[in-house]
Amino acid sequence: MSKPNSKERKIELQKFIEDTKGMSFLKRALKWFQQNVNEIVLAEELAIIPGEKNNPINHNMRRIFELRDQKGYEIINHKYSKDLKVDQWMLLNKDPKPELIRPRGVTKPLMMEVFERDDFSCQFCGRTKNDDDPFKSGRKITLHTGHIIAHKRKVNDNKMKITQLKDVDKKKKYTSADFITMCNVCNEACKNNDLTILNNVEKILKLDEKDQKEIFLALKRKFT
Ligand SMILES: [Zn+2]
Repeated sequence: MSKPNSKERKIELQKFIEDTKGMSFLKRALKWFQQNVNEIVLAEELAIIPGEKNNPINHNMRRIFELRDQKGYEIINHKYSKDLKVDQWMLLNKDPKPELIRPRGVTKPLMMEVFERDDFSCQFCGRTKNDDDPFKSGRKITLHTGHIIAHKRKVNDNKMKITQLKDVDKKKKYTSADFITMCNVCNEACKNNDLTILNNVEKILKLDEKDQKEIFLALKRKFT
C-alpha cells in the first residue's frame, strides 16, 4: 500500500483511473476507497477521479456524502477521528452498513431540529459527539436521528421502538416528533431491542460534574 502524496500513490491513482474507464464517479470513488480501506484517502485524489465521460466532477464531496448517507458506507473525516487531518478521508469497512443509511424523510433542517430539541445528546444513554466511542478507540460518538414508530409509543411509558424509515410510510410528511436523537452505539443496540429513554434526573446524572454542580446550585437557590 503506497502512502498518500507519494509518487507511487500518484502512479497507482493514474493506473486506477485508466482501469476504471467508463465507470461513474460514484463507482470509481467507492472502488478507490475500497482499494484503500482503512487507509487515508486524500480529498485531492477524489478531486482527480473523473466521471463516466472522463470529465472532472463538480461537487464531488457531495457525492462522497451520498456514499455514506444513502448507501451506508462508513466513510469518516477529521470530524470523527483525531487521527485524520482536514481533507483526509477513510473508509472503515469494505461493505456498507444499512444502519448508517439516513432515512430519506429526514431533511437536514429536520435533523437539526431534532438534535436541538434533544440538546445534541443521545436520549438513551446521554452521550454527545464530544464523548469517545467506547468500541472504537480514538473515535468520537456520532449522533443519528432514529425514527419512532408512533403507535408503539404508548405501549410502554418510556420504551420506544426505533426503526429505519424504509419500514414505514415514505409518503407521510414527517415532523421532528417522529424522530429522536440517538448515538451510534445505541443505534447499533436498538436493532433487536426496545430502548428506554432517560428521564430528566438520569439525563442530569450523565452530565459532567461542572454542569451537575451548576444545576445543583440553581436548584438550591430555588428551594432554600
Ligand atoms: Zn446512546
